[in-house]
Amino acid sequence: MTIPLLFGPYGSTDLPHNVKDYGVNAVWFHGFNEHSFASCEKRDLHACVEFKTFRADFGQHPELIPIGKDGKPIRYGKLVQGICLSQKEYLSQIEEQLTEGLKRFQPRGIWLDYLTYGGWFEEPEPDLQENCFCSTCIEDFCLHTNIDARTPDEILSEYPREWTLHNCRKIAGFALQYTEIIKNKLPECIIGAYMCPWTPEQFDGALTRIFAQDYRLLQKSIDVFTPLIYSKKSGQNPGWGRTWLEYSHQFVPQDCNVQLILDILDFPMSLTRSATSQVPSYGLQMFAGAPLFQDPDKALLFKFSVEVIRDRLSQ
Ligand SMILES: [Zn+2]
Repeated sequence: MTIPLLFGPYGSTDLPHNVKDYGVNAVWFHGFNEHSFASCEKRDLHACVEFKTFRADFGQHPELIPIGKDGKPIRYGKLVQGICLSQKEYLSQIEEQLTEGLKRFQPRGIWLDYLTYGGWFEEPEPDLQENCFCSTCIEDFCLHTNIDARTPDEILSEYPREWTLHNCRKIAGFALQYTEIIKNKLPECIIGAYMCPWTPEQFDGALTRIFAQDYRLLQKSIDVFTPLIYSKKSGQNPGWGRTWLEYSHQFVPQDCNVQLILDILDFPMSLTRSATSQVPSYGLQMFAGAPLFQDPDKALLFKFSVEVIRDRLSQ
């Protein structure tokens, strides 16, 4: 399947009717949102759904909070994502939402969001804990690895690699499961995944150790990887997207497509720096980017960046 190059904003805010003049050919929005689908159709834009997987209101569903190595629910802030993956009822609700959405709409792409274990990023110093060590998750680990370990301490001191690999395989397994559901219904639908934007070295390997996102394992199901490059929020400089792309060959398999999502708060520097990366982004999303297209100067800068990226990719 050829993956088209898609450029546009993320969000459900309406766009001007001439938005295609500025290089935009797609919009990403949350969920199977009828209004957004209609708006894309009217403007002849590809509709791409951001589909929420493992994120829940822990106030309403405390049973979903992953368990830390101290045997207690993990500490969490408002950005937390990830749930205890032994919660079968919640998992079946996710599948149902996906199946129902696919009955009603034909998105061009579906980007799986929050496809991780418990934790959060988008801030300079996140408070991270390994998880989930509920008794069912520990049993699952022992069963799949043939390891007899009873406590989180034993697992983390004796079998840290096996634990991380098991969790990464589990996340990759869900990616595959959701991909199969989508492709069964819409074989041409692009499967994207929003990714923790850290390199494997940052925060002591948190990309896999905490979030269980392994590009090699996910590669089987994911067509487009989208790291969340929110520079200001993450305490990074505006060149972060470019640095990330140019370093990505160290940990992203060569034949994977990487499409950045940038934050409107980092406009314009983050966009222009990313667009001139030696390693081009395969298309581009702009989080909360709709207002750009109300201002012709900003919209033209977006258009120019799209042209630069397209040029580099065609070389
Ligand atoms: Zn659990």
